[in-house]
Amino acid sequence: MGESFKAILVSRGEDKKQSVGVVDMTPDELMDGDVDVAVEATTVNYKDGLAITGKSPVVRRWPMIPGIDLAGTVISSTHEGWKAGDKVVLNGWGVGEVHYGAYAGRARLKGEWLVPLPEAFTPSQAMGIGTAGYTAMLSVMALEAAGMTPARGPVIVTGASGGVGSVAVAILAELGWHVVASTGRPEEAEFLKGLGAAEIIDRAELSEPGKPLGKERWAAGVDAVGSHTLANVLAQTTYGGAIACCGLAQGLDLPASVAPFILRGISLLGIDSVMAPKEKRLEAWRRLAADLDPDKLGAISTGIGFDDIVDAAAKIVEGKIRGRVVVTMG
Ligand code: NDP
Repeated sequence: MGESFKAILVSRGEDKKQSVGVVDMTPDELMDGDVDVAVEATTVNYKDGLAITGKSPVVRRWPMIPGIDLAGTVISSTHEGWKAGDKVVLNGWGVGEVHYGAYAGRARLKGEWLVPLPEAFTPSQAMGIGTAGYTAMLSVMALEAAGMTPARGPVIVTGASGGVGSVAVAILAELGWHVVASTGRPEEAEFLKGLGAAEIIDRAELSEPGKPLGKERWAAGVDAVGSHTLANVLAQTTYGGAIACCGLAQGLDLPASVAPFILRGISLLGIDSVMAPKEKRLEAWRRLAADLDPDKLGAISTGIGFDDIVDAAAKIVEGKIRGRVVVTMG
């Protein structure tokens, strides 16, 4: 049996109505895996908000413990790469969607999904970054691989006050970019400037249907918003520029034209964090340790407890969370 621990469980009735509750579980109730991890810190990402509220079909196995990322210590392992006492980080791989996730005292995972907790970070700091911040880093790496440098001109970050956005602003500013932060929350202008944003624009400038091509305003971008916002970002990208597409906070659609691609030679770079190969994850976490100012990470993160997760999940889908929330487990 082993020691019991608390877990958040989302369940579905025969009427397909979703409910959420806190339950006591024992290790023998966990799903298959070869590494047991004591969860020390986790976080609430946008996807976790969708899973807990049921707003989008993130959960594809019922019941489910949500929570797509965690940092913690290995309790036991039959995987050759890990032993008891190792500090690890987990992002994605369907955890919290089809495999029991992070919102529990203990997680049973596959060893191949795990990466070492970088020495630069405590478990809480790693979850201050979380999947949102790791996705921001993947986006920056994709821009660099496409040849983008600060010398080319400004970079835009949409959804700038959110998790992906705030970490992207901090990293890009640290790397010397002139960062244009697009936000619907003018009250967060000082927060964004503190992270290094050089200009703040109202997201309303980008969120309505626009023209196929507009004035060239930025060389590169990290877009966490999708829909008309991404279409307008593309239409206002300078010749030869590149935009990393990683989110859908406004919508899953992309009502754009081919004009920016065939007339300005710009590139749209797709970013997926969930199934990203291990080498890319290791590189992203190495870069986060090097390029994210720990003071800015502190400013981005707000701490909450296990009992606050469900409330934070509702708030994040309403766009009411600033930066990142870190859940420190009891
Ligand atoms: P957050 O909710 O923290 O941030 C999203 C931000 O988008 C909000 O803070 C808000 O910023 C802006 N926003 C919200 N609603 C709208 C709207 N209707 N129109 C325009 N802007 C809006 O979420 P995360 O940062 O955690 O995630 C952002 C997106 O990235 C999500 O869609 C998520 O699913 C996706 N994602 C994708 C990953 C991948 O692997 N590709 C991994 C991680 C996240 P503001 O108030 O500043 O305008």
